[in-house]
Amino acid sequence: MKPIEIHQFPCLQDNYGYLVHDADAGVTAAIDTPDATAILAALDERGWRLTHILNTHHHSDHAGGNLELKKRTGCRIVGPRADAARIPGIDEQVGDGDAFELGTHRVEVFDTPGHTRGHIVYFLPGDDVAFVGDTLFAMGCGRLFEGTPAQMWSSLQKILRWPERTRLYCAHEYTQSNGRFALTVEPGNGALVERMAEVARVRAAGKPTVPTTLALEKATNPFLRPASAGLQATIGLTGASEVEVFAKTRALKDAF
Ligand SMILES: [Zn+2]
Repeated sequence: MKPIEIHQFPCLQDNYGYLVHDADAGVTAAIDTPDATAILAALDERGWRLTHILNTHHHSDHAGGNLELKKRTGCRIVGPRADAARIPGIDEQVGDGDAFELGTHRVEVFDTPGHTRGHIVYFLPGDDVAFVGDTLFAMGCGRLFEGTPAQMWSSLQKILRWPERTRLYCAHEYTQSNGRFALTVEPGNGALVERMAEVARVRAAGKPTVPTTLALEKATNPFLRPASAGLQATIGLTGASEVEVFAKTRALKDAF
């Protein structure tokens, strides 16, 4: 099996658009639809025909282009069962434990409530690739608009069970500001200090810091590190439960 092709391009203010292409099967999926015009231009540029949209959640910078793209291409829209009423044009509802084939590539679905109540992520185990929407960011995680810290921590634990080599495609370029916050709660984390220097170089060159890997996030993302003694000490929660540490870290980030 050939690895799946992924075309990544900036959209709107700080979103990324993704086209996932299986040449043998003639299948192309847009992961979310931040900007229909930009996605149509990317399809034209590649000479690809849109067959699917895979939505992670209902926010307009993720599903706002659904109807326009469906009208122009006749594509099939896959989205969260738990939030079907808020996904424009949804054809197929998926949720936790579901799996489907995208061309010849297996896609597994995980419910990850927290940012929104119906958020889902897509994991392609044969490609070591996942599209995590606004659940996980490089050195960050999504704001808790519709969920509790306990829900979000449980969602993130599903991601933590994937292989460390998994490449994580998140929906926004928030890395540098996330990292600035991360340094305030884990100043003694050498891997984090080192990563921030690299991120500064990459951003100064105008390049994306996404995708990231699960291994790198485990080492540097404070939202995946509630067991870190350094983090617990900095935020005054030594010995507290993981969910308590996660909740306080998220609250501190909201006020940062
Ligand atoms: Zn969102």
